[in-house]
Amino acid sequence: MNFTFTEDQELIRAMVREFAQAEIAPRSAHLDETGEFPADTMQRLAELDLTGMPYPQIYGGAAADYVSYAIVIEEISRACSSTGVILAVHTLAGIPIYQFGTEEQKQLWLPKLIGYQALGAFAITEPAAGSDAGSLQTTAVPAGDSYILNGTKTFITNGAEAGIFIVMALTKTGIGTKGISAFIVEKGTPGFTIGKHERKMGIRGSSTTELIFANCRIPSANRIGKEGDGFKIAMAALDGGRISISAQSTGIAQACLDEAIAYSKERVQFNRPISSNQAIQWMLAEMAADISAGRLLTYKAAYLKQIGKPFTMEAAMAKLFASQMAVRCATKAVQIHGGYGYIKDFKVERLYRDARILEIYEGTSEVQKMVIAGNLLR
Ligand SMILES: Cc1cc2nc3c(=O)[nH]c(=O)nc-3n(C[C@H](O)[C@H](O)[C@H](O)COP(=O)(O)OP(=O)(O)OC[C@H]3O[C@@H](n4cnc5c(N)ncnc54)[C@H](O)[C@@H]3O)c2cc1C
Repeated sequence: MNFTFTEDQELIRAMVREFAQAEIAPRSAHLDETGEFPADTMQRLAELDLTGMPYPQIYGGAAADYVSYAIVIEEISRACSSTGVILAVHTLAGIPIYQFGTEEQKQLWLPKLIGYQALGAFAITEPAAGSDAGSLQTTAVPAGDSYILNGTKTFITNGAEAGIFIVMALTKTGIGTKGISAFIVEKGTPGFTIGKHERKMGIRGSSTTELIFANCRIPSANRIGKEGDGFKIAMAALDGGRISISAQSTGIAQACLDEAIAYSKERVQFNRPISSNQAIQWMLAEMAADISAGRLLTYKAAYLKQIGKPFTMEAAMAKLFASQMAVRCATKAVQIHGGYGYIKDFKVERLYRDARILEIYEGTSEVQKMVIAGNLLR
């Protein structure tokens, strides 16, 4: 066993941490207040080769290992939860094309995503199909050399700004998940519009929207894999995606600890810093131990993915543990700040709101337990 990062991975962490703390963290409160999309930051991430990390160089990617990618998501999320999820979902949108697309599709679409000519989005959730994503109702009916899409997707991250959408739709009804296929849909395709923009509790710098398909005609060449492969493709993408949400959780939890340590050393009550109280020290110690455990699970899952070993259960365990851990850390960080933790001038108020989504998207905690138990009882 080797618990150390490679020299390259340490270099990436140092570079990204410096960039994220200097250029991303100072803007995170503004994004939260305004709900603005961090367009400049995303452009800078593209310039730093961070918008297509795990993809090969032939498509413009950085050919980075998955551990390095998780490091980047952790450090960016530590600086800004919204920017972390925007980048994570953008990167995830390339996975179906890279793992299941034809060579022609890879050459056409991956450079656009990786070079950030277009932001990516991934759409499976519908109003009546959340945890039970396989019960989706959007249809894709073949019509000559096209498919006609009809239906509504909900809660789609990057919906407002994305140019390339991976969309799951039924090519055959009545046969359950075997009837689902995966498609690439471009922004601006006639019949495809963005519906409701959600107003959220946290990660407010990332957009979350409905996607509406009304007789939207897309070329058959935009289908990824075979008809009926869509659910398998979606689950494979989400397996990898869950590692990035674990990394995001670890980053947010680390930010909670950073803030809690600094504040507890500064805040004086009873003529001494509150950090001199064992009650506060124990909360800090529990947070540090919790974060360390979450980080280990995250990087173990990333490592298994990188070396081509099965990692579905490990990714679900990492996502389950790290998301709950981040919520625990955010709760403690607010507690250590006392009344100030409840006030918007203090970063932990935002971190507390940002952390809550971690247990919900890319599969709720309950769904992660279903995945883990399913693997245990196979
Ligand atoms: C901010 C945000 C961003 C998102 N981004 C995307 C995105 O980019 N793309 C996308 O496709 N989706 C996205 N989603 C959707 C997200 O993945 C779903 O919200 C999530 O999977 C849960 O589905 P649901 O909201 O319909 O809840 P439901 O499935 O209705 O679940 C409600 C509750 O019931 C529980 N539950 C459901 N079934 C069971 C069961 N069998 N056993 C035990 N408990 C159960 C759930 O765990 C949950 O606690 C996003 C959601 C949000 C809020």
